[in-house]
Amino acid sequence: MMLNKTFIEREDYVGARNYNPIPVVISHGKGVWLWDVEGNRYLDMLSAYSAISHGHGHPRILKALTEQASRLAVCSRAVHHDKMADFLETLCRLVDMDRALLMNSGAEAVETAVKAARRYGYQIKGIPENKAEIIVMEGNFHGRTTGIISFSSDESYKKNFGPFLPGFKIIPYGNIGALKAAITANTCAVLTEPIQGEAGVLMPPQGWLKEVEAACRANDVLLMVDEIQSGLGRSGRMLACDHEDVKPDVVMLGKALGGGFLPISAVVGREGVMGVFNPGSHGSTFGGNPLAAAVGKAALDTLIDEKLVEQSDELGKYLIDKLCGLNSPYVTAIRGKGLWIGIDIDPNKAVARDLCMKLLAEGLIVRDTHKVTMRLAPPLVITKGEIDWAFERIARVLTV
Ligand SMILES: *Cc1c(COP(=O)(O)O)cnc(C)c1O
Repeated sequence: MMLNKTFIEREDYVGARNYNPIPVVISHGKGVWLWDVEGNRYLDMLSAYSAISHGHGHPRILKALTEQASRLAVCSRAVHHDKMADFLETLCRLVDMDRALLMNSGAEAVETAVKAARRYGYQIKGIPENKAEIIVMEGNFHGRTTGIISFSSDESYKKNFGPFLPGFKIIPYGNIGALKAAITANTCAVLTEPIQGEAGVLMPPQGWLKEVEAACRANDVLLMVDEIQSGLGRSGRMLACDHEDVKPDVVMLGKALGGGFLPISAVVGREGVMGVFNPGSHGSTFGGNPLAAAVGKAALDTLIDEKLVEQSDELGKYLIDKLCGLNSPYVTAIRGKGLWIGIDIDPNKAVARDLCMKLLAEGLIVRDTHKVTMRLAPPLVITKGEIDWAFERIARVLTV
């Protein structure tokens, strides 16, 4: 571990300490595999929280990237470019929405959705100026901007970063009574993750999202679903809200949209909402640049042509079944949808991070979330054989 250590020490000296990574220094990746600077190989069971759903260096997306990079990478939004229409059409068709607005990071997509909801509230619904409210969920994760942390319920995300943005109401996740009680005439939107990823792959009760949809419809409230981590096949459906046949007004996408290469995010929505943007009301220098459009289009085409959504569903069930068959003294709960699995560890029996370190020694990259949950989210291109390989090692670590 000498070489790894050298890089880590140098980084620690000059980098802000806003992360606490596991002590391994990755230098290259291919498909589901990663190699560190000492040549050790690991199976990536984290996929950068869905950003690597297509695997590392997917050849088809890499080809689109290099071809486009050598033609035209970036041009300002002061002009049109010839990759934009293709990408927008594919994106809107896949999630059955009318219009899309392209940004870069997931947090920017969420900020965009918040702006859309507020404008909808004032211009369409007729909410009095500066009174619009958005209902959000306890345990949410929507990003790290000052606006977004304003409605986080996690103190460590907020401490000493105030003052915070008003206009948000936090209610318990999965509680339809609380949601109905929170809606007022000034509510413009409900913003939720269909499954809470960072909170530990937490699922609301079956039928909850459908009831949220009905409550939104009944009160002229927008349903805005953050599918930045859950979307594009992660949960075994194109969108996680497809599990409940829910049709949101606004969907935020990111992570996997970049095909494992670039930060690409989008807000995709119905005409009635997306129509609130006019020239000058929003924008981003790099949002929707030609390189991003070419890569994003290739990422979506690959998802469909390689049937990655179906694969996530099938292999996710296969892995969850195997995990549920484990008789582990540490595990208190296992849940998941598609290749997206949370394993709760009894804190009295083991520390999740210690188990992740043992898995690292076995050749698996796994990270804990909120100290007590191990999250498994391998690239969707993983094979059954690779899952068996991973399971054998997980079983070894969780049952000794
Ligand atoms: C990761 C994530 C975000 C933020 O995306 P960034 O690209 O890190 O800004 C927002 N919402 C959800 C659900 C996420 O998982």
